[in-house]
Amino acid sequence: MSKVRDVIIIGGGPAGYTAALYSARAGLDTLVLEKLAPGGQMATTLSMENYPGFEEPISGPDLALRMENQARKFGAVVEYDTVTEIITDSEIKTVKTLKNIYTCKTVILCMGASPKKLGIPREDPLRGSGVSYCAVCDGALFRGREVAVVGGGDTAAENAVYLSRFCPKVWLIHRRDSLRATKVLQKELFSIKNIEFIWDSVVEELHGQFALEGITVRDLKTGNRRKLDVEGLFISIGLTPSTSLVEGKVALDPDGYVITDERMRTNVPGVFAAGDIRSKILRQVITAAADGAVAAHSAEQYINDVFGG
Ligand SMILES: Cc1cc2nc3c(=O)[nH]c(=O)nc-3n(C[C@H](O)[C@H](O)[C@H](O)COP(=O)(O)OP(=O)(O)OC[C@H]3O[C@@H](n4cnc5c(N)ncnc54)[C@H](O)[C@@H]3O)c2cc1C
Repeated sequence: MSKVRDVIIIGGGPAGYTAALYSARAGLDTLVLEKLAPGGQMATTLSMENYPGFEEPISGPDLALRMENQARKFGAVVEYDTVTEIITDSEIKTVKTLKNIYTCKTVILCMGASPKKLGIPREDPLRGSGVSYCAVCDGALFRGREVAVVGGGDTAAENAVYLSRFCPKVWLIHRRDSLRATKVLQKELFSIKNIEFIWDSVVEELHGQFALEGITVRDLKTGNRRKLDVEGLFISIGLTPSTSLVEGKVALDPDGYVITDERMRTNVPGVFAAGDIRSKILRQVITAAADGAVAAHSAEQYINDVFGG
């Protein structure tokens, strides 16, 4: 069993690294546990135009590395390891990972969110062989091929625009007859000749044994089904919060997001949450970072109050 740390931050996305920066700068013994790579969802976008301070777009992986390096510079320790369990019912919390068991005074939950699945047969086996949840990550593999995007929000619209640059044909399939994407994105989308829309429809079947060879789409109004010979399917239908570690331990809203107050406190003393994992209205890098700063500040105050600094 290792020493009792001041703060353990679960997740190395923008919320986690900003919490680490503020916590380490406040002189707290800070550990970040990240299961994959720096940046979380941010690392899956190549061009970010809306993070303040960068007149030219910055790539997600680049910003992620900068955030990680900045947090490390002030003394935060970053370990690449998966958290498997947290025990929060005593003043000293326990965080179990695949490689270690840690104890700490406070935990900041920054596990973010992950893309929702369609929930149709063969979605899992074909993931990585034609089925993708990230156009920026996988799109280049489909250069010169016909692809489809499912969804009607900003991410679906962005993915369709991105793929249209190097795929001869992009189908955009949406279960309603209009998009939720922002107007500026819609304007761009409707101006692109090689994007074709399929409204009021859902993807019902995936074809291909080892790689995607086509999809069957069903019109919800007429019931008509049609097969599209696409080799790539980009599923962009929203997010699921990564809260399996804390189900039954901290209060969640009806959609499964962690409920906090404006100081990022959960209903469990010493457990804070920041970023996309929280119940809130805007899930972006800037809001994740802001939450992380507040959560670290609150953790510092909690440690002073409960443990006397
Ligand atoms: C394709 C795409 C494009 C986007 N473009 C923009 C944009 O242009 N501008 C913008 O502001 N926002 C954008 N966003 C949204 C933005 O990326 C998110 O709002 C932001 O990354 C949320 O940060 P976070 O730190 O809360 O969570 P996440 O980024 O989701 O990071 C959570 C981290 O926690 C880790 N984790 C989860 N469970 C565990 C565990 N058990 N143990 C250890 N680690 C764990 C994950 O591996 C992940 O790295 C985009 C998102 C996507 C998907």
